[in-house]
Amino acid sequence: MSDMTMTAAVEAALPKAPFEGRHLIDGIWRGSDNGESFDRTSPSHGILVSRSARAGRAETEAAIGAARKAFDDGRWSRISGKERATLLLKVADLIEANVERMALLETLESGKPISQARGEISGAADLWRYAASLARTMHGDSHNSLGEDMLAMVLKEPIGVVSIITPWNFPFWILSQKLPFALAAGCTCVIKPSEMTPSTTVILGELLLQAGLPVGVVNIVLGFGQPVGALMAEHPDVDMVSFTGSTAVGKAIAAAASVTLKKVALELGGKNPQVVFPDADLESAADAITFGVYFNAGECCNSGSRIIVHEDIADTLVEKVVALSKKVAFGDPLNPETQVGAIISQAHQEKIAGYVKDALAAGARVKLGGAPVSHPGLPGRFFAPTVVTGVTADMAIAREEVFGPVLSVLTFRTLEEAIALTNDAAYGLSAGVWSENVHTCLAFARRAEAGTVWTNTWMDGFPEVAFGGYKQSGQGRENGHYGLEEFLEIKSVVMRVGRTRSNWVRA
Ligand code: NAD
Repeated sequence: MSDMTMTAAVEAALPKAPFEGRHLIDGIWRGSDNGESFDRTSPSHGILVSRSARAGRAETEAAIGAARKAFDDGRWSRISGKERATLLLKVADLIEANVERMALLETLESGKPISQARGEISGAADLWRYAASLARTMHGDSHNSLGEDMLAMVLKEPIGVVSIITPWNFPFWILSQKLPFALAAGCTCVIKPSEMTPSTTVILGELLLQAGLPVGVVNIVLGFGQPVGALMAEHPDVDMVSFTGSTAVGKAIAAAASVTLKKVALELGGKNPQVVFPDADLESAADAITFGVYFNAGECCNSGSRIIVHEDIADTLVEKVVALSKKVAFGDPLNPETQVGAIISQAHQEKIAGYVKDALAAGARVKLGGAPVSHPGLPGRFFAPTVVTGVTADMAIAREEVFGPVLSVLTFRTLEEAIALTNDAAYGLSAGVWSENVHTCLAFARRAEAGTVWTNTWMDGFPEVAFGGYKQSGQGRENGHYGLEEFLEIKSVVMRVGRTRSNWVRA
């Protein structure tokens, strides 16, 4: 497409009016009692994308009350797994039928490329289908080896009302790693999407009603961490909080939830290393490293932002990564060819630049990029693809989440040193190893303190495979049967089945 045709196509795609988001409480769409709202301006195109009702305590209380009532009267928790699965499958079909509408809003609210927003939303439908399969197959245990007169059953029951609080970087995907699993378990929910990206969650609310979900089973409140998220974490009528976001907020949520000892599932930050051994397939490693650091502009919990490469091949690998980085299509998120879009906000762009500046002051070197950039015709915030070498383990750029398209390169000499560097982190979300020797890969995988170890690949994820973090990257797991079990309580029913008595009191 020529630039002129592209500009016309982009302009035609822009919505003519902002999306109006309201709360969904007990099956009713409503604004806030005080009439307050908040706006989201596109970080790439500068246009007003959405205007959302802004919840306070009253709306949050009402949403929690509706979820409580819907759980306690059994309208969802007591129906069969088959009925729940049927509904989840309908939702999956509706998501697929609404990909374009949701992808456009997600791109404009987050700045991510439209092709990736489409992939995120259509891919999320598969999470709904997988969760539907779990709704029909979940089961407990029975024990019949306790003696002929005893029988025990271990039942799995929905935990109750779940608060779901999500971030802005993959709003629809992350919601879909939680909500269908909670619904498959029989829970009822209150959802608060990020204030930066509320709109696809609102559309999902429409689709849930269209699919026939009983009212009150899913409630949505739009607003900020204070007071909405905080109240959702501490409220005594909530039984569990499922949160994805920063480690700092995760800790605040765990503290608030501890007052009533409610369960928390936390998916938090990462500072994920990819370790490259001298016998690795360097072409594949360089390609995956480039993808791992620039995907979603590096605004990704799984960003592979910390490369730990053997010193003998460090220069060669960096050269390859820099060459590939120059070919990545950065630019207008609405252009279907774009691979890396805008940064979520100006404040975040400045934070990324600060990490690079501090690393340079501490002796690191910039091989590529290193600064904010602009794209012709777009008012938005972008950051150049950046490769920083000479990074040492004590620098903030090597220890903290930069959450931008910035790669830090550290070097090692021995396997022991590589493992020590890998584990020298507060986080433990994911790690990667590149080697043609399966023994090296397995030795690394066994000792890496990380919830996922990718081996000669990066960031492959499947609904069937558990995902979550060690250390300060979180608690609990999403996906797989583990993802369902987070939302289940376990009840043992122990029965004496004969007419025998225990004879505790002597006859
Ligand atoms: P954030 O922690 O700032 O916000 C996440 C959500 O929490 C938002 O909805 C926000 O409104 C809400 N919130 C803020 N303060 C709160 C409080 N006191 N109580 C309750 N809720 C509160 O995170 P973010 O900036 O939206 O997202 C980026 C972070 O998310 C990064 O750290 C990233 O690594 C992490 N993340 C982790 C995963 C994972 O699966 N491990 C996935 C994606 C993102």
